[in-house]
Amino acid sequence: MFHSTRRHYFNVPLDKKTLEVTDDTRIRGALPTIKKIVGDGGCLILMSHLGRPEGRMEKYSLRPVLPVLEKHLGTKVLFADDCLGESAVSMSAALKPGEILLLENVRFYPEEEGKPILPENVTEEEKKAAKAAMKVKQKEMAKKLSGYAEVYVNDAFGTAHRAHATTAVMADNFDVENKMFGFLINSELEAMDKVLHGSQRPFTAIMGGAKVSDKILLIENLLGRVDNLIIGGGMTYTFVKAMGGKIGKSLCEEDKLELALSLIQKAKEKNVKLILPVDSLNGDKFDNEAATNVTAADAVEDGWMGLDISEKSIALFGEVIKNSKTILWNGPMGVFEMEKFSKGTTAVAKSIADATAKGAFSLIGGGDSVAAINKNGLADKVSYVSTGGGAMLEYMEGKKLPGITAIRGE
Ligand code: AMP
Repeated sequence: MFHSTRRHYFNVPLDKKTLEVTDDTRIRGALPTIKKIVGDGGCLILMSHLGRPEGRMEKYSLRPVLPVLEKHLGTKVLFADDCLGESAVSMSAALKPGEILLLENVRFYPEEEGKPILPENVTEEEKKAAKAAMKVKQKEMAKKLSGYAEVYVNDAFGTAHRAHATTAVMADNFDVENKMFGFLINSELEAMDKVLHGSQRPFTAIMGGAKVSDKILLIENLLGRVDNLIIGGGMTYTFVKAMGGKIGKSLCEEDKLELALSLIQKAKEKNVKLILPVDSLNGDKFDNEAATNVTAADAVEDGWMGLDISEKSIALFGEVIKNSKTILWNGPMGVFEMEKFSKGTTAVAKSIADATAKGAFSLIGGGDSVAAINKNGLADKVSYVSTGGGAMLEYMEGKKLPGITAIRGE
């Protein structure tokens, strides 16, 4: 028998009124590892955070996760209502083989994130001292939680980019053979490494979403790896304006025009085909009821804003995607939340599914692209849908994630 403590990603959305779990995707993602440990006779202690509480706040309790877990596992799950309290200590010590204990939200303690809550008007020095003191308390929290178990398993990919007590610091208290990733993190890493390192060519990255500024590092890291870089969504218009096109009142980051030009230049130097939309579906306002017109992407008239790609871009992107063998998609092609401007994103999702059916490996990441894939019922028609928006972005940018290095080293 062994006690295993597992860091999970049960950071699920709750109904504001009933506090019921409204989407259990993340809980389902954790089941294979839970079943494996319990099936092998382990006693299981589950840890997670939920939301961003400041201190103990009942609306961020993990209690609503219990019935969902119990339903999926077909077994009772115990609950300790304070992860560092007496009951957590005694309940974890009393666990029998096959029993499962869920601890209350680890973020009820600021030590989890290691960020001190500071009053206003503190000096820089006081800030420094408070931060150092909090780091000590964070280690203490990690130490106490580590004492509940003999083995530490991290399966919380969604928080792997955070150096928190339960996502990274705890790992220091376990020997190499007693700390490991769960199946979820393992499969996330496998999918990302496949795209980053062993990609079959042609490799196409599709970047969308609102802003260039959010995706600069990712684009820069990908420029050395991809054959094609498709740009869509709101960030299109910063590129178009930088090249002298007319964008009307489309989204534009004026302070990123130079950067857009330098990315275009870098793409040329690295022989990457940078593919921008050729046409634009415009609205006269940011509204599903807006009047629309279609223009060339660099000829959006005054008073209009580009809110989606149109037919010619859909065909152009579709052609490139269908001929690709490795595909990475992050960010929608338009304001896909509005039916009228969702066609471009849906078309890209479908092209990726078609390419996957023809043998391509496709990785989808980022909340909005994942939502678009799910909305179109294509989740099982692509190779991998990432559960970690920020974590995936940082890994693909080439950064080291504290939760990953804490276990596998550099
Ligand atoms: P991100 O979080 O950067 O991936 O951006 C996603 C958001 O970008 C979504 O909410 C989209 O509605 C928004 N978006 C996509 N295309 C456009 C566009 N052409 N104009 C304004 N917002 C857009």
